[in-house]
Amino acid sequence: MEIFENTEETLFAEVLLPVPVPKLFTYRVPRVLKEKILKGQRAIVQFGDRKILTGLISNVHSQPPADYEAKYILEILDDYPVVSELQFKLFHWIADYYVCSLGEVMNAALPSGLKLSSESMVQLHPSFNLEESTVEFSEKELMLLKHLMHESLDYSAITTLLGVKNPYSILKSLVRKEAIILFEEIKEKYKPKTEKKIRLAVEFSAPEALETLFETLASKPKQEALLLKYLQEVPVLSNQAANKSGISKKSLLTDGLSESSLATLVKNKILEEFEVIVSRFGDDKIQEQPVISLSEDQLRVQRDILQGFQTQNIMLLRGITGSGKTEIYINLIKQALDAGSQVLYLLPEIAITTQIVLRLKKIFGHTVGVYHSRFSDNERVEVWNGILQGNLKFIIGVRSSILLPFDNLGLIIVDEEHDPSYKQQEPAPRYNARDAAMVMGQIHHAKVLLGSATPSIETFYHAQQGKYGFVSLDKRFGEAQLPTVLLADTGQERKQKTNKGDFSSQLLKKIDEALSKNEQVIIFQNRRGYSPMVSCEDCGWIPKCVNCAVSLTYHQYKHALVCHYCGYREPLPNHCPTCTSPRIKTMGYGTEKLEEELKLHFPEAKVQRMDLDTTRSKTGYETIIDQFEKQETNILVGTQMVTKGLDFDHVSLVGIFNADRMIHFPDFRSYERAYQLITQVSGRAGRRDKPGTVIIQTSNPTHPLLLTILKHDYQNFYDAQLADRYQHDYPPFARLIEITIKHADKKICRLTADALTNQLRESMAGVKIFGPGEPMISKIRNQFLLSILIKIQRGKSDLPSLKRSIQSTIQHLLKIKEHRNTRIVLDVDPV
Ligand code: ADP
Ligand code: ZN
Ligand code: ZN
Repeated sequence: MEIFENTEETLFAEVLLPVPVPKLFTYRVPRVLKEKILKGQRAIVQFGDRKILTGLISNVHSQPPADYEAKYILEILDDYPVVSELQFKLFHWIADYYVCSLGEVMNAALPSGLKLSSESMVQLHPSFNLEESTVEFSEKELMLLKHLMHESLDYSAITTLLGVKNPYSILKSLVRKEAIILFEEIKEKYKPKTEKKIRLAVEFSAPEALETLFETLASKPKQEALLLKYLQEVPVLSNQAANKSGISKKSLLTDGLSESSLATLVKNKILEEFEVIVSRFGDDKIQEQPVISLSEDQLRVQRDILQGFQTQNIMLLRGITGSGKTEIYINLIKQALDAGSQVLYLLPEIAITTQIVLRLKKIFGHTVGVYHSRFSDNERVEVWNGILQGNLKFIIGVRSSILLPFDNLGLIIVDEEHDPSYKQQEPAPRYNARDAAMVMGQIHHAKVLLGSATPSIETFYHAQQGKYGFVSLDKRFGEAQLPTVLLADTGQERKQKTNKGDFSSQLLKKIDEALSKNEQVIIFQNRRGYSPMVSCEDCGWIPKCVNCAVSLTYHQYKHALVCHYCGYREPLPNHCPTCTSPRIKTMGYGTEKLEEELKLHFPEAKVQRMDLDTTRSKTGYETIIDQFEKQETNILVGTQMVTKGLDFDHVSLVGIFNADRMIHFPDFRSYERAYQLITQVSGRAGRRDKPGTVIIQTSNPTHPLLLTILKHDYQNFYDAQLADRYQHDYPPFARLIEITIKHADKKICRLTADALTNQLRESMAGVKIFGPGEPMISKIRNQFLLSILIKIQRGKSDLPSLKRSIQSTIQHLLKIKEHRNTRIVLDVDPV
């Protein structure tokens, strides 16, 4: 009797949906799914009247919701959980700490290929062929497949076509049969990677046939050579099956064998050309390399790290550029993998993953997965599933890879831990992957290694306080020395008229010397475009963006004035729109202008530019880095992309085109950023046996920050910064929360900001609240902005309850009619 009652009991599931509402939604579990349902599986549910969404099962119980009639779950998409228990814990932490909804975290985590929704599009699987398929299909499935052969369809079109209300079970079945794939319309479609292959036509694969074939080819040595090469690579006679899969065309056409002879052989039906779909990951042949043996200093550091991990969960490795941090990581990664754990290696940007990924793949082969924002959605799904299925044990990735379905991490490395790109700005969750990684370490009982040549003030402070373990490596590997840093006084040169435009004679001379010795040069300038400033010489008119409170940057290549905040564009006018003067001049140097002038100064040299504009394509970085590595280019000009972790052998000179702007940027972190950027880019100079030189152009050569950079004096820089932070109540002594209020109407924006500030002041005594004030850019995309800064002294307040109180104040405010349409964005630990 009791058993009977149990099976009849209605189950309910809490479903996490990708919506910015801070709660879970309760759905009824249909009886057929009762046995199957598990936390972490994806479920399809109806949300609102018409929307269909994919959610995650977060909990299953028998408690009906108190205030509404629960709808049924429509379908469960997985046989096993796609989100691990430990991942859920991290999602919860992120939602709580960064004050956002769990749905927003889930949305950031799941690749859209895993989120079937009413916005999903359906296409045939690229490798699917209905005629050749041996799988059985239902009538409705066939109907849909035939339609998809002509066009991709969206969800509602499918509903209409099939005349059913719920097509997901059909879609699910077809996904499983690998007949279709889902994508979001805005995203690019999945294109499989293919490879051209060659094989011998079957009729020639018997010994006699081959013999006759060689006789007929006797007078055609080139074709004969090709055939011989093929037979060398593929043991046709001893293994017929090997012939069926053939070899790649690329590998056949090495050793100077000609493409045209191959074409003839294919035309004469002796060889066959065919295409196969290959995985994006790990089909390229990689020569495995043994791990490099560490130097004595490196071994000491590795020992200290391992020893530190006995008592500390987090260690900071401060190692100057070129000291061999990466080699030490490799050793630690290997140990962790050998012990059977997963490893996550975080890098701030893809720009540097290219080189490092190659280096690591050589060592770890195909158990390495790479995850970054330039991957298509299907590639991301491949990585996600690779981790779930246990094929990928080691992930190299950017920020978002902390959201992957790990269940057994042993080691997390956060390389260049100081880098601001670890912080997500827009949209929520606005998390810092470095900080989340440390929490992840706790959740997985994994060790976390933070590495940097220029640790952030916060991290170094915690290391000094003993909260993290600390190890330092202050020597470059081998004979390599740190570069000599020189200041070029641009003010002085201007007075003496030795400058050429914004180039000091000193920098030009050094570039010339380097080039004449066949050495390479990197020039760093943190502004893209041609000229950041345009103005009328007669009346001072400056072109401004129509949507944002910023001036426009001139891009010569596009022949347009461009807004770097919203993308707005207009042509450069011939006459000033205010006074009609034709004297419109461009001022200042963006990377584009630098590239142009370097070409004029050094006509023999090949100059390449690396910035957002030249690296938009997926392989943009790779090509530029590759060409520079092969010394096909002599000078590389770029924005902060050139500063990070690149390792080149022939760079002897690094020029920092304008240090002043970096230093005087109005932000409490500007010195820290300048120190880090300049030190990082300087580190590109003079690796191995060649000593390098760095030239910093500045009109302020006695600036104390520049002096610490000259001396490579991190400690001095840190002490000065920390004193400053202490005096002004900035991190690490206080925690910051920034609230931005956005509205298209400036008055309403102000009204809401004032109301919010007052309410916060009332509800949170003892916390310092600044503002509301205009941020540096007070209007973006036609939205006026005001910001409020909250400083919370470390250890003095209960942070979680403070955040809850801020959140509920905002929620209350937004319920009031006059504030309802305002957007309020909360940023915890802004960078
Ligand atoms: P970092 O990451 O600290 O900037 P890397 O690990 O990139 O330094 O090392 C700098 C260069 O020195 C690299 O080219 C690396 O291959 C080389 N190197 C470092 N340690 C060793 C070692 N023990 N044996 C051989 N080469 C090394
Ligand atoms: Zn004018
Ligand atoms: Zn704009």
